Amino acid sequence: MGSFDYLFKVLVVGDTAVGKTSLLNRYVHDVFGKEYKMTMGGQERFTSMTRLYYKQASACIVMFDLTNPDSFRSCQMWKNDLDSKVTLPNGDLLPCILLANKSDLSPWALTKEQIDKFSKENNFIGWTETSVKENKNINESMRVLIQRMMETRDSGRPSTPPQGEYININDISVPGSGCC
Ligand code: GDP
Ligand code: MG
Repeated sequence: MGSFDYLFKVLVVGDTAVGKTSLLNRYVHDVFGKEYKMTMGGQERFTSMTRLYYKQASACIVMFDLTNPDSFRSCQMWKNDLDSKVTLPNGDLLPCILLANKSDLSPWALTKEQIDKFSKENNFIGWTETSVKENKNINESMRVLIQRMMETRDSGRPSTPPQGEYININDISVPGSGCC
């Protein structure tokens, strides 16, 4: 039997400076640092994306900065924009995970209760706090998303509907260090 790879398109959205580029550098190259250019654009807040950008995505990451309440408020807009512009081929919403980044900084501007409520009310599959800087919960949260994409791909529907629950990383077994 040969093996084969899956190719998934995963969107990463959120306000400027929440850590999107850092997340990709961390996940793909396992580096964190300042030696890259800020993603061009200069937009500080939510800006609507084109349908073309969202097209044929399998999943989405919505990210905010735990120390920046504006970036949290924008998540509502990011999620609404996504859901209005893209669905899975079967019409379901894209599986979306909510990442509360920069957990290494303090004080947090949001409570866990606020984030939990927002996540549940907006059809996220779940949320967790992350620190791209300290590599906290990055591989684990990506694993949750990938697992959900695989389920959707294999059976057309995930085994459970989105619940928006806090993702307790301790419940997830991550064999080895790498992912998938
Ligand atoms: P983007 O605009 O969403 O792509 O954000 P960037 O990835 O460019 O990150 C913006 C700034 O936040 C950079 O200075 C990063 O080094 C910093 N940053 C990203 N993630 C974290 C994190 O988890 N903790 C801390 N303390 N800083 C972070
Ligand atoms: Mg960027």
